[in-house]
Amino acid sequence: MLRDSLISLSRSATAKALVTKTPLRAMSRRFVPGESVESLVDTIREANAAGFSATGNYLGESVHDEPNARRAADVYLRVFDAIGADRLDANVSLKFTQLGQDISERFLGDNLGRVLDRADEVDSFVRFDMESSEYTQRTLDAFEKLWSAGRRNIGVVLQSYLHRTVGDVARMNRLGARVRLCKGAYAEPASVAFQERTKVDDSFVELMRMLLDEGTCPAIATHDERMIGATIDHHSKGGFAADRFEFQMLHGVRRDLQRQLVADGYRLRIYVPFGEHWYPYLMRRLAERPANVLFLAGSVVQE
Ligand code: FAD
Repeated sequence: MLRDSLISLSRSATAKALVTKTPLRAMSRRFVPGESVESLVDTIREANAAGFSATGNYLGESVHDEPNARRAADVYLRVFDAIGADRLDANVSLKFTQLGQDISERFLGDNLGRVLDRADEVDSFVRFDMESSEYTQRTLDAFEKLWSAGRRNIGVVLQSYLHRTVGDVARMNRLGARVRLCKGAYAEPASVAFQERTKVDDSFVELMRMLLDEGTCPAIATHDERMIGATIDHHSKGGFAADRFEFQMLHGVRRDLQRQLVADGYRLRIYVPFGEHWYPYLMRRLAERPANVLFLAGSVVQE
């Protein structure tokens, strides 16, 4: 109930105005460290120094006009300039609707092409975040088109809450594409997604095993200790891709667990969001763990 309310608030302009004008913005920096490319670079440097790789995400989605979609792509070009110049251990994660998927597939292809070319120039990589289920097929189709055209510095995200994902993981494994597995962050209907937590978790474990056994450099993105434990357990049995997998976690979430995994010798990538459009992202993080509302209000939550 609270989760659904927070997800609806993520779309409310009035709620955004309220949160923006309060000290909560300052506190929200735990999850979104800054608004500029420079702030992203500082955070990546800190992450690298602590033994984590990083992926930078310029916050934004559902962009419907060409100038703003081009501007978002330009920000990613600057991120790759910094990654190349400073030799950062980092890549980027972006959303297709931010680069103009709702304008036209052709516009998206051109705008995204500039970002992928720059990623190639600095020998980096672009992960396409997965959005709500109305975009799943279009996103995978656009991904496969790029893959068929010979792009190899790209990867997708698949969500364990969707019924369809077992087929998508099998297909991506056959292609040799790099997959990030996560549970899924949007409110989806029962017609397309599991509603019970246990089913989402069971699905996650099944898909994680498929990825470790047959995938290409899979990324297991979760803060759930049970999912992490199941992954470590399966890794210890040794699958085909097991030595090349990495864990991924969000900046500011379960920092204790992040440090522990790296101390135990696992690879971990931190997802670092930045930019002026931090509000819907923040609300989704609150929806995942309503105790974070208390954290933002000044209480202490789990590190
Ligand atoms: P949960 O069952 O939600 O949480 C398990 C435990 O983790 C909680 O009990 C708590 O201890 C901790 N935890 C989880 N979330 C928080 C939080 N916000 N604050 C504090 N503690 C928390 N979703 C998409 O739909 N598309 C994407 O492209 C996408 N990319 C992602 C990339 C990365 C690197 C990560 C880590 C997540 C991504 N997600 C994405 C979000 C994901 O789908 C989940 O919504 C989110 O990770 C919470 O699920 P969980 O696996 O951590 O498990």
